[in-house]
Amino acid sequence: MLKRTRSDGLDLLLSYDLKESSGILVAFTARLGGASVGRYSSLNLGFDKGDDDKRVRENREILARTLGFEVSKLTLGEQVHGDKIVTVDDGLAGSGSTSAKSAIEGTDALITSKEDVPIAVLTADCVPIVIVDPVKRVVATVHAGWRGTIKEIAPKTVKRMESEFSVSRNDLLVFIGPSIRACSYGVGDELHASFKESFPNIIGDEKVLDLPIINIYQLLGAGLKSDNIHDSSICTFCESDHFFSFRKHDVTGRQGSIAMLGS
Ligand SMILES: [Zn+2]
Repeated sequence: MLKRTRSDGLDLLLSYDLKESSGILVAFTARLGGASVGRYSSLNLGFDKGDDDKRVRENREILARTLGFEVSKLTLGEQVHGDKIVTVDDGLAGSGSTSAKSAIEGTDALITSKEDVPIAVLTADCVPIVIVDPVKRVVATVHAGWRGTIKEIAPKTVKRMESEFSVSRNDLLVFIGPSIRACSYGVGDELHASFKESFPNIIGDEKVLDLPIINIYQLLGAGLKSDNIHDSSICTFCESDHFFSFRKHDVTGRQGSIAMLGS
């Protein structure tokens, strides 16, 4: 369901069938094709990571042209590894589009039913999750690092979509973007123990975490259908030439995971 493609010089993961059947955009970006240099080379979409703001703005414009959205409507949360979920209405659309400061405060997941409002999360190893209801026409983007995963931000987002928009869990499609995975994510005793306590059925004795798998486990537990969950299976650390990886490079850029209901 997610296809890796090259468009206007950008490396992208896109869900073509969803775009075709419902006009809903789901896209994950990579490093190639932007204006940033060095550690941020080259499509860095994150403002507050040490890159030149002008280059970040240029990168967002490049992406907006390629994917067909208005850059001034790009909407982002502050992303603080919490579990605050915000519904984006017309008033909030465009928050975070031109600066880190203007992002929606303390927020790690966004939901919208507004057309032509691209919502996004920015990551470099953390798990980006896009949730789509093509029936009720609602989309969500979720940032789940280990803290957000322990706080179960993904199933909480599903619950919010249900209470606010009456979505049916059977209809929900999930897309998991590039993220660090068990192959590259060794953790200390304490963190491993707390995950083992929270998820005894899926955490083994090896001191590694596979956050995408844990998020999928949570979403299946929330009643989503396994056939509707599409994992890119890409490891950012293993593919750090193509994707930003915080663990690999420490100071680095951010890739974006974007969802938008087309009009
Ligand atoms: Zn890996």
